[in-house]
Formats: sequence, structure tokens, C-alpha cells
Amino acid sequence: MPKLNPVGSELEEAFRRVSPGAMRIHEGKYCDDPRGRSRSQDAVVLAPASTDEVSAIVGICHRESVAIVPFGGGTGLVGGQLPQDLPRPVVLSLERLNRIRKVSPSGDSMIVEAGCILENVQAAADAAGRLFPLSLAAKGSCQIGGNLATNAGGVHVVRYGNARDLCLGLEVVLPDSSVWDGLTSLRKDNAGYDLRNLIIGSEGTLGIITAATLKLFRRPAEIATALLAVASPRAALDLHFRFQERFGTMISAFELIGRTGFDFLEETHPGFRWPIESRPDWMVLVDLSADTDIDISSRLVEAASKAADDSMVSDGAFPSSARQRTDLWGIRESIPEANRRIGAISSHDISVPVDSVPDFIEAADREVSQVGNFRINCFGHIGDGNLHYNVFPPRRSANAHLSSEDEVRHAVRRVVRRFRGSLSAEHGTGRRFSGELATNADPALFSMMQAVKRALDPNGIMNPGAVLPDPRLTGSGSSMT
Ligand SMILES: Cc1cc2nc3c(=O)[nH]c(=O)nc-3n(C[C@H](O)[C@H](O)[C@H](O)COP(=O)(O)OP(=O)(O)OC[C@H]3O[C@@H](n4cnc5c(N)ncnc54)[C@H](O)[C@@H]3O)c2cc1C
Repeated sequence: MPKLNPVGSELEEAFRRVSPGAMRIHEGKYCDDPRGRSRSQDAVVLAPASTDEVSAIVGICHRESVAIVPFGGGTGLVGGQLPQDLPRPVVLSLERLNRIRKVSPSGDSMIVEAGCILENVQAAADAAGRLFPLSLAAKGSCQIGGNLATNAGGVHVVRYGNARDLCLGLEVVLPDSSVWDGLTSLRKDNAGYDLRNLIIGSEGTLGIITAATLKLFRRPAEIATALLAVASPRAALDLHFRFQERFGTMISAFELIGRTGFDFLEETHPGFRWPIESRPDWMVLVDLSADTDIDISSRLVEAASKAADDSMVSDGAFPSSARQRTDLWGIRESIPEANRRIGAISSHDISVPVDSVPDFIEAADREVSQVGNFRINCFGHIGDGNLHYNVFPPRRSANAHLSSEDEVRHAVRRVVRRFRGSLSAEHGTGRRFSGELATNADPALFSMMQAVKRALDPNGIMNPGAVLPDPRLTGSGSSMT
């Protein structure tokens, strides 16, 4: 691979010529990690206004061997959007590619540009009487291009799948500046290799997504929500199984929430009120959605009462209006912000087989307690076996425990491996975990990944050091803190 070159004033001028108005000041949102743990290095930020401009910028970078770091909403949690150890690179922001190109309600699809904010995509689908179901707490800032680049998950995966399952086609600027127009809305297409699904989840290392065709769905006729107190993660899993038997695909979210999450909200958000009086150790937040009016709310209350009779549920809150529903989900979606304010020692976005979730939590708690006395905020998408297992210092002793970070991380990682789980369930690999991927991935799988990277990006200009360590970079492959 050729050596990477920094952007100097001549190249800045060349970028101005091919993409007038693209230059941005490299500060604020372009520099900050959402969890405040790392900062971007010096870079040139460009926000081109069209696919042609993206291609022209990539063409210059290809010719001059300059690294490009694609930038969406900047909400990524593994540092993929924040350049590090690179000779002054281009940070390429998609923010101006933000048009909804087409909505086809009868074709159940829409074509959107990569820089559309997820919440705006949801709203455009809704305005056309359809549903775009991808949803996560960062929906007001993250972009659909970033969601696809990270194959984002979120709260509705149990019913609709992750970002990959919601995409029919892509438009991509490849590392040699050519544009792949794959904006198909075909539901079936077995012609050749599936490169759409290769680009999705590649975190900007194989190309820049400039637009996508997304799948739309029927809007639910009714949604019912409940926050239910359960005795333990095992009870939550049993309840999930029972609800699956009873409601099948009507379950559109099934979230596990540990008490610590609500304790943190109480500590960091002065207006917070517990929605369940009994303040249980574990809760599940359930959404059921029905395609026709079948009084799903009564059915949910009835199923919860039956579960209470069988000692599976001890308390519950049942919002009776859309406003109350939104408030309850607002509480769930504020947990990551509460975590950020408290300041984790070590955060893990892991997955294990669904039926191993309770055993995993028990084993991880045990291993972490052997390292020291910590607060653990474990919550997540139990229906997908995906947990956010985050470890915090005891109250009022934040800095004293930072030195334990490595030990805590290794302890949790050991348990994940014991359960044949994934170290990155939905947030991706980014720069933070590229070293771990190189060390832990199956050797045959890892060499296939390297071969794909070499084939599509032989000069290694697309997001070097993200996902795969780059031997040209001094710090590459060392886990970011
Ligand atoms: C409060 C909060 C809650 C979150 N909850 C969830 C959750 O429930 N589920 C989940 O999966 N994630 C979650 N995340 C993580 C994050 O929101 C997702 O990873 C999101 O998909 C990133 O989108 P973005 O536009 O912000 O991308 P960025 O952060 O800008 O970039 C992420 C990666 O994608 C690359 N990239 C961005 N845009 C493009 C593009 N157009 N083409 C090619 N590469 C690109 C970047 O180079 C980088 O490697 C959460 C984050 C926060 C802060």
C-alpha cells in the first residue's frame, strides 16, 4: 500500500474547485466522541453537496493518496468517524446530501440521501402513511448513511431486523471514485455477489454510501406498551418466551432495563420520576403493535396479569395515551445520556445466544466483582441477546477506579468469549476495537476481510485504521480508551 499523504494548501484549493462551499471548520461535532472519551486529530472537513462532488473529492484523494474518513451524524460509539494517527486526512461529511429523493407507498420503498437524519426519514415515511421502523436513541442526530455503514440495530430489531434488513439498494462512491448505482427497489435479485450487504456494516472502509433505497412497512393500527417489573434477567427471558408464544411477531420491542439505569437517571436528571413505585431491580419495556384494531392494549394487560398470577411479574406501568407511551420510551432512551454523565470505566455492546443472557449476566457480574467494587448498568435488547453491559465506579469515586479499566474490560471479554458471543453486537468495530478484532477473529475469516479490503481499496485510503488495523499507522490496532 502506498504511504498516505497529508492535505496541504494546494490540495485544499483543489477540493474547493471540485466542491465549492464544501469546506467546514474542524471543530465541535466533527471532533467529539459522544461519550467524551476521545477527540479527533487535525483534519480537513469537507461537506460536498452531491454524489458527483463526493466522487470528485474521492478522485483527488485516490490520486494523491490521502485518507478519507466518512462522517455522518457523529454518534458512532466506536470511534470510526474520528480520525486518529493519520497524516492530515479528509473528513467527508454527508450532511448536505439530505434529500428524500422518492417515496413509493405502493412499492413500500423510499430513496433517501445518506445525510438524511434518521428521525426525518421516519417522518417522511409517516407522512406517506408508511413506517420506517429503524429506531435508536440517537435518532435525532444520526444519519441513515451512518446507520447503514454501522448496520445499526436499535429497539425494533426483534420484529423488523437491523439496518441491513431494511435496505434494498445503495448508491456508493468507491475508493477509486467510481459510482456504483445500486439504487434498486427489487425484492429479489440473485444476480452475482451480494455487495450491498458487504458495504452495509463496513463502517466507511470500503466506500462512501451516498444514497439508499429503504424498505417501508404498514403502520401499526395499534401500539400497546408496558413497563413490567420482573425478578431477574431469567424471569425477563421466560416472559419474553411466553409473550412470543402469545403474540408472535406483534412484539416490536422487548427491552431489559436494570435498576441501576433508573438510579443513574435519578442522579443525573433532576426531573426524573420512577414510573414504577416499587423500584424493582429488573424491568422489561415491551411494545406490541398490531396491523388491525384488535384491542391490543387489553390483551397486553391481560397477559401481564396472567404473568403476575404465575409470579413472573410483580408490578407494572401501562401508559394509556400516546404521550405517556412516548414519555416511557423517553426514559429508556435517556439511559445512555445518564451513563455518559456518570462516566463509565468500561462499556460493552455484546451479544450472546438469547437463552444465555441470564447466565452471561450472572457470570459477568461475578468476574467484575472480583476486580473490585463497581456499579453495573446492564440494559439492552434481550429479544436479540444484545446487552449494553457498562461498568461504573462507585458513587463519588470516579477517578479512583480508572486504573481498573483494562482489568474490567478483560474480565467482561473473557465471559463473552466463554459464551461464544460477539464483542460488538450493534455498534461496530471502528478504531476502538480494530485491535481486538485482529486478535480474536477466526484467522480464516480475518484473512477474507483483509482480502476484501485489498480488492476494493488497494491504496487503503478509505477510513484507514477503522475495522482493520492499518500497518502504516503507529497507533492502529491499539484499543482506544
Ligand atoms: C445515545 C446513543 C444511542 C445509540 N443507540 C444505538 C442503538 O440502539 N443501536 C445501534 O446500533 N447504535 C446505537 N448508537 C450508535 C450510533 O448511533 C449508530 O452507530 C449510528 O448508526 C451511527 O450513525 P451516524 O450517522 O452518527 O454515523 P457516524 O458516527 O458519523 O459514523 C459511524 C461510522 O460510519 C461511517 N460512516 C458514516 N456515514 C457514512 C456513509 N455515508 N458512508 C460510509 N461510511 C459512513 C463513519 O466513517 C464511521 O465509521 C447510539 C449512539 C448514541 C450516541
